[in-house]
This record gives sequence, structure tokens and C-alpha cells, in this order.
Amino acid sequence: MADIATIVRDVADEMAALTDRGEVATYIPPLAHVDPRQFGLCIVTADGAVHMAGEAEEPFSIQSVSKVFALTQALGKVGDTLWRRVGREPSGTPFNSIVQLEREQGIPRNPFINAGALVVSDVNLAGHEPRVAIGELLRFIRYLAEDDTILIDEIVARAEQETGFRNIALANYMKAFGNLTHSPPLTLGVYFHQCAIAMSCRQLAMAGRYLMLGGLHSPGGPRVVSAQRARRINALMLTCGHYDASGDFAFRVGLPGKSGVGGGILAIAPGRASIAVWSPGLNENGNSKLGTAALERIAEATGWSVFSQAEQGLSRPASS
Ligand code: GLN
Repeated sequence: MADIATIVRDVADEMAALTDRGEVATYIPPLAHVDPRQFGLCIVTADGAVHMAGEAEEPFSIQSVSKVFALTQALGKVGDTLWRRVGREPSGTPFNSIVQLEREQGIPRNPFINAGALVVSDVNLAGHEPRVAIGELLRFIRYLAEDDTILIDEIVARAEQETGFRNIALANYMKAFGNLTHSPPLTLGVYFHQCAIAMSCRQLAMAGRYLMLGGLHSPGGPRVVSAQRARRINALMLTCGHYDASGDFAFRVGLPGKSGVGGGILAIAPGRASIAVWSPGLNENGNSKLGTAALERIAEATGWSVFSQAEQGLSRPASS
């Protein structure tokens, strides 16, 4: 039986030895220039212990992991009425796909594909200036992570804006269906800036604690969302958090998870751990290759899969 500190160290060592690390995202220079040899891991457990390995304190572009926090913010503003404008089903398509929007009258399948995240940004904009809405999201994330040093990388934000033609198309298309209330450039401004938030694995794992703790900010801390809302966000992460690879992630890891093209993944073992892993090389679905492999190893070693028996100690399953 290994303890978590040992598991974290062993997994990081194992990942360091791998040579096939996937391909970094190349659509914007600031991501294309990230060193693919980096790997970071942080596990925060329900008792508040923090375990780290590798480049766990190195900030990276959280990209679509931000969609979890933006969704939480939007649900706080409009509650379940959000579900009139965005669905809750896996899309089975890549993160930036447009194909379903025409057939489904501009209602995106879920809040984690880009189209759905744009609707969420539109909700969070709520008639304000984009910088007010993004400031609110940044403050929320800093509060969750208990860390005021978290920043938006303006170089990434500008690059997103300059190259985001698909996102611009998605926003305009949904506007044509009446599913954006603001002008597309304003909504897109919020979305591009949330993608450009930079966080380390440590900061991300800390920020994810409310999803492990049934909605509490920290062990014994104030409530951020209801237990039901935390459970539902976890359900969406499990079913939609990895786009068209969500089924495979559930099969291999069995935990709610949200990935980003910066190579970060936030995974939640409800009641047990908030896990952030980062390695910039991506697989063919745009999810971190080593990040996914590391989470698979962690789930195996801890038995934390949501599909496991209640026993879920730290012992290895007898056989698989
Ligand atoms: N900025 C990226 C985009 O909008 C985010 C996508 C992602 O992380 N999957 O295309």
C-alpha cells in the first residue's frame, strides 16, 4: 500500500521517462513555444494536504479548464435557467466544432465545448464591460485558490483574439439564432481572456477543492455552491470535459476532468482529492497526453475512480 506522497513521486518519475509526449498546441505562438518536456502534478486531499511533483508551481495557460469556473459563475448568476440556452449532453465532436449548431438551432450541446462556453461567457458578461466580467471571474478563481497572484496572460489573450476565427464564427452563428444577448465581439472578449488565465498545478488543484468537497471552499470552509451543484458540475466534467474523448477518459481514469489545450487537466475525486496535472504535449483530441497517462496511473494506484467499489482505500486493486 503506497501513500499519496509516494504515488505522486512515482507517477512523476514514470512520466519523466516517457519520450512520446504528444504535440504542443501551435495555433498561437505563446503556446507553440512552450517546452514539451515539462510536467507538473499537484494533489490536494480532503484533509487539506498538498502533494506536488515536477513543475507544479510553474504557471501555464489554463485555456478550457477555465470553462469549469466560468460555468460555476454563470450558474451563480442565472441558476438553472442557463439550461435553456445550453445543453447537458456530450457532443462527440471536437471542442471547436460548429456542425451541430445548425441542426440544434444554435443551442450548444454542453457548456464545455467552445460554443457552449461562449454562451456561458455571454451570461457572465451580463451587460457589463468585458473587463468587469473577466475581473469577476479572476477574483472568483483567486478566492478559490486562496492566491491573489493569479493573472491573465495578455499576450495569450491578444493571440487568441487575433487567431480565433472559429470562435468568432461560432459566436456570430449563435447570435444569428438569438442565443447571444451581447454583440459577439464583447462576448468573445470575455471568452478569450478567460482562456488566457495562467495558473500552476498547485493553484489549479486548490481552486478545484469546492468540487471535491461537495461545494465547500476548503475543508470546514464556507459554501461556494450547493452540494447538488457541485455534483452536477462533476457530472458534466465526466461526460463532456474531454470533448470527443470524454468516454475514453471515463474508461481510463474514471474521474470528472476538464482539459485545456495548454496541457492542463483538473480532475476531481469526489470526497477525496482535487488533482491538477500539466504537460503541454497533446494527444489527437487536444487533451494532454502525459496528463491523461498520469491520471490513469493515479486512479489505478489509489482506486479513486467514481466507478470503483466504496472501499477505495489507497491500496492497489487486487487485479484488473
Ligand atoms: N483557446 C482555445 C480555443 O478557444 C481553447 C480550447 C481548449 O482549450 N480546448 O480554441
